[in-house]
Amino acid sequence: MFQLSTLLRPHILTLTPYSSARDEYTGKEGVFLDANENPFGSALDGSTFDGSTPVDSLTVDPFNRYPDPYQGAIKERLAPLKGVRPTQIFIGNGSDEPIDLLVRATCTPGQDSILIMPPTYGMYEVSASINDVILIRVPLTPAFAVDVPAVLAAIQPQTKLLFVCSPNNPTGNVMDQSAVVTLLENFDGLVVVDEAYIDFADAPSMTTLLDQYPNLVVLQTFSKAWGLAALRSGMCFASEELIRVLNKIKPPYNISGPTQQLLLQALSHASAKDEMVTQILTLRRELAEKLTALPLVKHVYPSDANFLLVKFDDPKAVFDYLISHRVIVRDRSRVKLCEGCLRITVGTQAENEQVLTLLQSYPTPVTVGA
Ligand code: PMP
Repeated sequence: MFQLSTLLRPHILTLTPYSSARDEYTGKEGVFLDANENPFGSALDGSTFDGSTPVDSLTVDPFNRYPDPYQGAIKERLAPLKGVRPTQIFIGNGSDEPIDLLVRATCTPGQDSILIMPPTYGMYEVSASINDVILIRVPLTPAFAVDVPAVLAAIQPQTKLLFVCSPNNPTGNVMDQSAVVTLLENFDGLVVVDEAYIDFADAPSMTTLLDQYPNLVVLQTFSKAWGLAALRSGMCFASEELIRVLNKIKPPYNISGPTQQLLLQALSHASAKDEMVTQILTLRRELAEKLTALPLVKHVYPSDANFLLVKFDDPKAVFDYLISHRVIVRDRSRVKLCEGCLRITVGTQAENEQVLTLLQSYPTPVTVGA
């Protein structure tokens, strides 16, 4: 039986969180002498971004005031888009922040473990290392699927979190929902499903299962489909009980005021995100078809994300050749199960054409004696 209170580190359960000035009074009107802010304004007032637009005219809230610690306005707008309640949402400084907070909330250093399924996103392992948490690796199958029996067999009493990346980075595929449900039903810790690339997938988000499984955590991000990587903002959806814990242990003002305003603006333009996703999906199909047709390319893996995993005979040489023409892709060829592969992000039509043209004119080695 899953019980969050027994999963949490005991001192987190009893922690008295920092009480910020803005926790005590949430009204907008008043004389604010509670947070030791500068009453005059900010050093930015009257300055310009590019010589034309005054910074203060771009913003609604002044820079000199601390922002809403719990980002209420964003959650109100995000909840209906995601089909969850505002109280089931945590906003982090990138989705990397909830990854780290989840590890810190549940794992006692040197004692507890998390389980990952490589090849996968690198930050789960880095977060475990930073926190001196034991890492259990259960590779995906050669078809890049969750090896459910192997995962269940590898779980230890001290295993607190399983990370499932779906669509997975760098393989690009979504994981079978029934496999994740089996994990949810047979593991008393948290199953964290990282859906950073879900907007590009032909599969529903697992957020629909949140009310059914209190041990489910779903991560999404504003960095990909929303085009806001520079804002560093990620979403974490989970039970209200777990969200309360994350709120207790996060830095008090983890999402800056300007970031909150820009996120609100973006959320009122969700259709712009949808249009970009539609374009990226068309470009992904075209790029995959054209890459597949190149003799140099051994295989293009199916993708539910905004990148393609592409296999070459000599990936290092292709990588260096592309770099020499200032086209930068990701070399994943030394990653187990991704041998020979480069990961190529779907770019604009012109960028994709540039990659294809370069690969078409890749200098083929002279075969002696042929
Ligand atoms: N999860 C996955 C699977 C990713 O690939 C990435 C970024 N490449 C992240 C999370 C981190 O995203 P963010 O920018 O929200 O920290």
